[in-house]
Amino acid sequence: MTNQILAENPAGEHGSAFTAHMISATWRDGEGWSPLETVALADIPMHPGTIGLHYGQVVFEGLKAHRQPDGSMAVFRPAENAQRFQRSSRRLAMPELPEEMFLAAVEEIVRADEHLLPDDPSLSLYLRPLMFASEANLMLRPAREYRFLMMAFVAGGFFGGAVEAVRVWVNRAHPRAFPGGTGDVKCAANYAGAFLAQREAEEAGCRQVVWLDATERRWVEELGGMNLFFVRDGRIITPRLTGTLLPGVTRKTLLALAESLGHPVSEDQLSLDQWRDECRAGSLTETFACGTAAVVTPVGGVVDGEDGWTVGDGTPGPVTMGLRHALLDLQQGRLADPHGWMHPVRGT
Ligand SMILES: *Cc1c(COP(=O)(O)O)cnc(C)c1O
Repeated sequence: MTNQILAENPAGEHGSAFTAHMISATWRDGEGWSPLETVALADIPMHPGTIGLHYGQVVFEGLKAHRQPDGSMAVFRPAENAQRFQRSSRRLAMPELPEEMFLAAVEEIVRADEHLLPDDPSLSLYLRPLMFASEANLMLRPAREYRFLMMAFVAGGFFGGAVEAVRVWVNRAHPRAFPGGTGDVKCAANYAGAFLAQREAEEAGCRQVVWLDATERRWVEELGGMNLFFVRDGRIITPRLTGTLLPGVTRKTLLALAESLGHPVSEDQLSLDQWRDECRAGSLTETFACGTAAVVTPVGGVVDGEDGWTVGDGTPGPVTMGLRHALLDLQQGRLADPHGWMHPVRGT
């Protein structure tokens, strides 16, 4: 399996590499949250009428814990994920998990299973928090009972080895998100709706889908489950958060890191036409995608129906690779952390 496949699909073939435990809690109307429990990872019995299965009241998160040079574990910006998990829940009329419970669950699963993370700095523990409507009822209304779970698996070598630039495919038929919809939160339904376009991209020999805005089908928004960045005349530009983009923690981090590395950054809109024309003119020299699983992944070429273009010379560019290494160095504890982004896990 290549790094890239893992990067795009964190579970990938490692779906079977889940760790030993999961954290669990239940919310009931009138009672609130039960205390967190750490239990063996196991199947969960479900009534066939479970609301989450029928009406998609399901939200999730993705974050990583990294082994530090002293052997302890630290999690990258978990409070950001806790807050986004709350925003996603609010959007689907689900109860919010308090931030301190989210952080306690993160610490607990890392403490329980860190021994399953091999001593290889290119590996990390990917944490997957999930909440779904667990009440059995077929009425079209929000559930009165929810289950929170957090599981983990060992995620593979996203650095070291050669980083390959990926070819991406422009999707025009099936937008991921629309104004007023759920594109800015991490709910399960967003991904179910995206699989068809992902399959079409693969049939066109590409790795990932370029999402355009749903209204004009003109503005570049995201790439698969990742945010996009462009390097234009030495400046870094990333699409503005219009409400149909997922506000990535990696995106937010890279905006700050890029500035501290001396790159001017701006949040703006970029049209598909600009992307193509400026690549051909040589003024737009790099494109990369970013996300918790993908870290920073270079884009080398774009396929748009019968048309297509190369980004730069089609290989990973210097700004892309500089940011990738800076982010990995920070997460793996080789770089100072002035912002306090790394959350140490006590007892590891
Ligand atoms: C999760 C996700 C991202 C990346 O978010 P991170 O917090 O950086 O992992 C970007 N786009 C979509 C659609 C996502 O689901």
